[in-house]
Amino acid sequence: MPKKILIVDDQKGVRRLLEELFKKEGWNVYIAANGLEAIDRVQEVIPDIVLMDMKMPNMNGLESSSQILQLYPDIKIVMMTAYGEMDVVKKALEVGVQRCITKPFDILRLRDLVNELVMDGVL
Ligand SMILES: [Mg+2]
Repeated sequence: MPKKILIVDDQKGVRRLLEELFKKEGWNVYIAANGLEAIDRVQEVIPDIVLMDMKMPNMNGLESSSQILQLYPDIKIVMMTAYGEMDVVKKALEVGVQRCITKPFDILRLRDLVNELVMDGVL
């Protein structure tokens, strides 16, 4: 059965790019445009992994991740932060986010990271 990935970003271009990438890789891809939508989507589809933007209107990525992980502690979350947001990275890891990557990122490295986290169950 294909694995499920939820992509959360307020920028349509980022959503499209990541959606195409992971569809090509055989994932079932789901989309949300902000942190609140992400929580709804998670409850509908229970994804294996979430790619979560940090800066978004209607609930940022940190708050959304925190709530998602309280409901589903096993879901893996990779947070996409801006350069230099070390305070955010620290808080994200404290609430249980598995990895943080800095935007702009290399999409092939992101793909490899996602595969590694989900296929190997790396903690
Ligand atoms: Mg954003």
